[in-house]
Amino acid sequence: MTIRPIKSLGQSFLIHEPTADALIAALELKPDDTVIEIGPGKGILTKRLIRACNNVIAVEIDYRLVCYLEAEIGESPNLKIVHQDFLKFDLNKFNDAKIIGNLPYNISSPIIFRLLDNISYWQRAVLTTQREFAEKVLLPAGTKGSGVLTVLCEYLCTRRRLFNIPPRFFKPSPKVISTAFTLMKRPSPAVAISHPEFFYKLINAAFTPQPRKRLINNIALNLGINKEILKNIFVQLNLPLDARAKDLTLNQFALIADVLFPYSQ
Ligand code: SAM
Repeated sequence: MTIRPIKSLGQSFLIHEPTADALIAALELKPDDTVIEIGPGKGILTKRLIRACNNVIAVEIDYRLVCYLEAEIGESPNLKIVHQDFLKFDLNKFNDAKIIGNLPYNISSPIIFRLLDNISYWQRAVLTTQREFAEKVLLPAGTKGSGVLTVLCEYLCTRRRLFNIPPRFFKPSPKVISTAFTLMKRPSPAVAISHPEFFYKLINAAFTPQPRKRLINNIALNLGINKEILKNIFVQLNLPLDARAKDLTLNQFALIADVLFPYSQ
């Protein structure tokens, strides 16, 4: 069956078998694991997954590929193919699932946000994205290029770069280099924060509208907190008044969130 790839769905299919093996190895599967695959495509990972564990759920948005997979793999008691947008797929019925996906690059960010929002239901994710995007996820907060995803991933997960994947390992070849990495849920978040909901709001406010604008201005604008109060808090915490969101470590964000919370009520 020939499938004409749809660019807007990020359809670049992995064709390099050793890379598929290495991605599966990084999941460290046990037979009883439940694995959710994001966008199985033509099934290069799916075939390996059903050999390694008993419960694989492959979520694919393109009905042509659902049919292709059904024809290619046939009936397997280990596999359930779900025809759905992963961004609408309910993760809350799972417990300690493992996640794998060579992600459609245009929606890598909403997919990872969705995984972080549903962190209670999975334990490990092996993901492949465009290299520059992976770098953002893998950076420590407080370094150039960091963003909301950087801080939240560091807060909730330990992160490990696996390897780069050259364009020629995919068909059709993307124009960019890809990077595979692992996110492992921490047993508890990296820092203790009294009001995590407010911490999330603060991180979003800090990087919006622009990560390069002064942090005090972004927080004042987005959370409606008086600038003088913010300046006093920054002085109290020994933070430069002209700090940018990208300059702050996770611990510093946590400290600001705790001190600022009463002013946000
Ligand atoms: N896993 C396959 C591989 O490695 O060859 C395919 C990877 S391809 C980069 C991305 C896959 O995600 C495609 O099969 C595409 O149809 C699917 N996809 C795109 N958007 C999706 C979405 N919102 N939900 C589920 N699958 C999606």
